[in-house]
Amino acid sequence: MSKKLLFSREEMTRLCVEALKSRGVEIDDIAKISYKQQARYTDDIKFETCRESVLKILSLRDIFHHVLLAVELDKLAEKKMFEGPIQDIIEADLGLFGVDEVLGLDVARIYGVIGMTNFGDIDVNKHGIVNTLNTEGKKPGVVHTFLDDIVGAIAAAASTRVAQVINEEMAQTETHEKISLFDNIEEIK
Ligand code: MG
Repeated sequence: MSKKLLFSREEMTRLCVEALKSRGVEIDDIAKISYKQQARYTDDIKFETCRESVLKILSLRDIFHHVLLAVELDKLAEKKMFEGPIQDIIEADLGLFGVDEVLGLDVARIYGVIGMTNFGDIDVNKHGIVNTLNTEGKKPGVVHTFLDDIVGAIAAAASTRVAQVINEEMAQTETHEKISLFDNIEEIK
């Protein structure tokens, strides 16, 4: 039987949700970070839009690969399956080890520079579940080196998506006279 390599968006979402859940992370935990981050900039954001954004992001093939890989890398480190110094470095979550942040940035960049700066905020200030994962990861036998960054990055991407959705709604509801590209040039003359 040939190996299954391709998954539908529905399957990828489900597998991501299961993988995160197996490591103690619920979708609502991630949506809460997005909500908290975006609520600073926008008054009327809905938790449901944050939740929907998290699920949408988890349905993307790139993100699916990142989530599954991050979860497995932490599990392998917990089982001490890496050979050489990298085992201890990942297990200790060494401050100067930055490959976990690189994976996080790669997820956040699907929403451009704003996604990446939002990830930086979550990475530094460690909101909600990211803080929990970070604290738990310090206990013996528990490794969350890759998971905390992936979770923070999904929250950042979802938060940025929410901002995009809200801005698109605003752009569509604001009543403007039909604008021509050359309107402003006329004014300058
Ligand atoms: Mg980390």
